[in-house]
Amino acid sequence: MAAPRTAPQPDRTQLLVATRSAHKLRELRELLGLRAELVDLDDVGIPDEAVEDGETFEANAAIKARFFAALSGMPTLADDSGIEVDALGGAPGVRTRRYAGENATDPENNEKLLGALSGLPPERRRARYRCVLALALPEVRGVRGGQPVRMSHGTMEGRIAAAPRGNGGFGYDPIFEPAAELPGGRTLGEWSAEAKNRISHRGKAARRMHRILVDLGF
Ligand code: IMP
Repeated sequence: MAAPRTAPQPDRTQLLVATRSAHKLRELRELLGLRAELVDLDDVGIPDEAVEDGETFEANAAIKARFFAALSGMPTLADDSGIEVDALGGAPGVRTRRYAGENATDPENNEKLLGALSGLPPERRRARYRCVLALALPEVRGVRGGQPVRMSHGTMEGRIAAAPRGNGGFGYDPIFEPAAELPGGRTLGEWSAEAKNRISHRGKAARRMHRILVDLGF
């Protein structure tokens, strides 16, 4: 008698992280602690860029997850994140990485943000980091043939410091004071990686995504 046929099991040994940011990859590796190996776009030799033209972090995370899952054929996790400043009506938001220009460096972005808030007292410098993680599994299809994504979210409240301090973290960390600090206290650039991971936007989103990934066999 022929053995019953079972569907081939999808490969769960590798997870593509749709990024070229060594910082995001490092934090996600620390945070997710999966059996699967986390590889990035350069590791798998993908030079293409997704067109991140969404107006929300959710939309851009989904665009990246779908685009790179289709290109690679691999399960793909995308991180879209940024900073929202209340006094700027939520800017720079989805334009965080390119705030001071298309190829802006972190110090250029920090300088532009400090300039935009120049002279404002601590209570008018409220801001938050947001992170959205989106997971696309190429073998899973929606009823109309589209690529569904699973998402998780995290935020971290704080304020923009008066001047940069500290060399830790990346991006806006040297000018971001977590809400747990008094005005003028330590920025995230002065926190340890462990302390940041415990309360960060990416830490919260990653702990929620971890459950989804483990249930899927990663
Ligand atoms: P994305 O690559 O389009 O998601 O841009 C995210 C940008 O937000 C990064 O380039 C950083 O400038 C900023 N960002 C996101 N998460 C963090 C963080 O944990 N620390 C500092 N900056 C961050």
